[in-house]
Amino acid sequence: SIMDTDFLALLERAKAANANPKADALRFDGQVAVVTGAGGGLGKAYALLFAKLGASVVVNDLGGSAVGQGSDSRAADLVVEEIRKAGGKAVANYDSVEEGDKVVETALKAFGRIDIVVNNAGILRDKSFARMTDADWDLVHRVHLRGTYKVVQAAWPHFVKQKYGRIINTASAVGLYGNFGQTNYSSAKLGVVGFTRTLALEGQRKNILANVIAPNAGTRMTATVMPPEMVEAFKPEYVAPLVAFLGHSSNEETGGIFEVGSGWVAQVRWQRSGGVGFPANRDLSPEQVAAAWSRIIDFEDGRATNPNSTQDSFQGFMDNFSNIQEEE
Ligand code: NAD
Repeated sequence: SIMDTDFLALLERAKAANANPKADALRFDGQVAVVTGAGGGLGKAYALLFAKLGASVVVNDLGGSAVGQGSDSRAADLVVEEIRKAGGKAVANYDSVEEGDKVVETALKAFGRIDIVVNNAGILRDKSFARMTDADWDLVHRVHLRGTYKVVQAAWPHFVKQKYGRIINTASAVGLYGNFGQTNYSSAKLGVVGFTRTLALEGQRKNILANVIAPNAGTRMTATVMPPEMVEAFKPEYVAPLVAFLGHSSNEETGGIFEVGSGWVAQVRWQRSGGVGFPANRDLSPEQVAAAWSRIIDFEDGRATNPNSTQDSFQGFMDNFSNIQEEE
């Protein structure tokens, strides 16, 4: 597990090697960013950074517990206060992301436009699958997947009209790879990936770009599983710069999946084995599949590809149509 690595030694080495280069400033003056779940954790770091870089920010947060109970306007208010004290522009919104129209309405009322949506709000209801209840399943899906959908649904017509929009949605490594006790969360998070990739296709010609991140950060969500040194090294501030970059007009990337945390950023893509094409004019039996199994799952024979679209995917099937075996 990640907890077993000699984390402190690695951290010391990383600190010593860090040259901290300065890049050109990416500014957001005149633009409006909506960040959901921005009352704490990662969302707060995003809101502070967008505001610092000149954006007007809607700080949305329901202010409930980590398992999605209750509500409190203080979470969002404190972040708005912090932004204003630093000379930035921000307003609070306390609605659940399930009411995405109200979140977006706050941006339009306060600032007259919307340019960037960061869907970040989230909760956990971890249970082994045998113990999962409909309530645990539904609430997690409603906040992560339906909430993401509802906020984008409200922003989309404005993005289409102005031919500009930047969407950053939040998945999780747990959605990409799975994790014990999180069937509800992992399925909602991979749902966010599929949602984002399709948005990217539908938005491309209107300059609406959509990307999805799988972050790692020390927040209240992870405080129970990360030791204190790790929380320190996994600051939300190390994730925010990628979110700002993806939200910027100079970004041309869309439909991307990025893992990010501790100052490390990487892209994830699919890989498909070369597969086995059985003769297309013959009945296919389970025994034939069994006999070919080692080739079906072989990624190392030099034939694996990285399909990046449904068209890429379908090509594999098309190619097999010519695979006709002559009758003996
Ligand atoms: P967090 O609990 O610190 O922040 C989440 C925020 O969302 C909270 O302030 C909460 O009040 C708010 N929120 C919850 N439900 C809401 C709703 N219905 N409407 C509006 N606001 C709501 O957690 P975090 O670690 O900062 O997580 C942020 C996002 O990143 C989440 O989507 C989470 O699933 C994802 N994520 C985090 C990690 C990590 O390592 N921290 C890993 C993978 C994914």
